[in-house]
Amino acid sequence: MRDPFPTAGSPPLPPAPFRLGWEEWLALPGLGLPALKAKVDTGARTSALHAFDIEPFGPANAPRVRFAVHPIPGREDVVIPCSARILDRREVVSSNGEMEYRYVIGSELAMGPRRWPVEITLTDRAQMAYRMLIGRQALGDDMIVSPQESFCQPLLDYSAYHSAQRLMEAAPPRSLRVAVLSREDGAYSTKRLVAEGEARGHVVEVLDTTRLYMAIDALSPQVYYDGAKLPRFDAVIPRIGVSVTAYGAAILRQFEAMGTLTLNPAEGIVASRDKLMAHQVLARHRLPMPVTAFANSPKDTDNLIELTGGAPLVVKLLESTQGKGVVLAETRKAAQSVISAFRGLRANFLVQEFVKEAAGEDIRALVIGGKVVAAMRRRAAPGEFRSNLHLGGSAHTVKLKKAERDLALRAARAFRLGLAGVDMLRGDDGPKILEVNSSPGLEGIEEATGNNLAALVFEEIEHRVRPHPARRRKES
Ligand code: ADP
Ligand code: MG
Repeated sequence: MRDPFPTAGSPPLPPAPFRLGWEEWLALPGLGLPALKAKVDTGARTSALHAFDIEPFGPANAPRVRFAVHPIPGREDVVIPCSARILDRREVVSSNGEMEYRYVIGSELAMGPRRWPVEITLTDRAQMAYRMLIGRQALGDDMIVSPQESFCQPLLDYSAYHSAQRLMEAAPPRSLRVAVLSREDGAYSTKRLVAEGEARGHVVEVLDTTRLYMAIDALSPQVYYDGAKLPRFDAVIPRIGVSVTAYGAAILRQFEAMGTLTLNPAEGIVASRDKLMAHQVLARHRLPMPVTAFANSPKDTDNLIELTGGAPLVVKLLESTQGKGVVLAETRKAAQSVISAFRGLRANFLVQEFVKEAAGEDIRALVIGGKVVAAMRRRAAPGEFRSNLHLGGSAHTVKLKKAERDLALRAARAFRLGLAGVDMLRGDDGPKILEVNSSPGLEGIEEATGNNLAALVFEEIEHRVRPHPARRRKES
């Protein structure tokens, strides 16, 4: 076709060809692989990457594949986890003549001054000296392969895999498979976690705790769901309801045994749920709390009242949540009748000093990964001393004092919780811990502070499951 806009002067020089030897160094930046030694093989059509643990995941309309690569030959200890969109699944004849069904992914290939998109098939065969094979399909029209030469393009080396910092810079955000253990997939917090996780490129599934079951086996612990073995999850966010704490904790321990990160460990959930145990843990860590007493025998009722400083005092069912099992006894007589009523029902409860100066207000500090990321002040409805939002309390922003922030962090740490809601009362002599919640709701506090707290939950998970750098070894 004739150029409709001919330019004056001589025609431009054809661009110099891009030369490749039979072996070259390259990087696959989109997969977080900063240096690979590749064999250029024009006898092969498609390019291939040697990967293992190849596993498809994600929704059917946007399927993805996860896999791992040993980028350095002979260094099985260096493992880079990768993930990518699946472009296709194709039959490929491998170099040994066998037919294989392989996933095809797209990635950018970087070599010397150039970057260009290529299709790569994933194959899990015996380890080869070259982790990548460049087939003719990946070569552009202006590329020339000289099979007699090697390394026509600049050399790279494997040192990028030795530094955590450089690895983090090289690694694209990796797609994680995350489970939210919850029985309520319609709840605000669950929906927010799913939406935020997906927005960050992760695959997030809500699993109903009570529908999970397990085979307890020392060598290969597994968790099953609706008749099928669950795939490996990178992380679990437990949002276990109070009614299923014991079973939920058992499921979590199973995930822990399988090497899955549990944002909150089973032990911390169990200890924080049981108000009595929680107070004992707090006391052991010398964290301030209202004077609290507990007894089993009816004969001790009067002593209990004395121990906590007499009426008015607060009586709490050990399993109370949302303020439902918390009673204020204003007089000694009222305290005696509440205590004997609870005993008659064989309910477990504790008796606590009433922190009057808190004046129907408590403070909720949200701790994620060792940082206080948000805080709110909750005010009880008129005529009510319990500030729970479920009982009509209202949420307001609050700036925490240093002593309050420190106390919240120490409380979350005492239970080893990666995500915790720490409730405190403002007493005359400083903050006092009321309780530590291992499934804190996000609705009230996201609304009160206007912060995207679900995103911070995923930041913490991403931080904790990132790839680890290779230990340096003497190189020959
Ligand atoms: P729940 O787990 O049911 O929420 P809490 O121990 O958190 O039980 O108590 C509910 C609410 O009652 C608290 O948020 C606080 O406003 C009020 N409250 C609880 N204990 C005391 C106390 N010792 N002194 C003053 N107010 C209290
Ligand atoms: Mg509470």
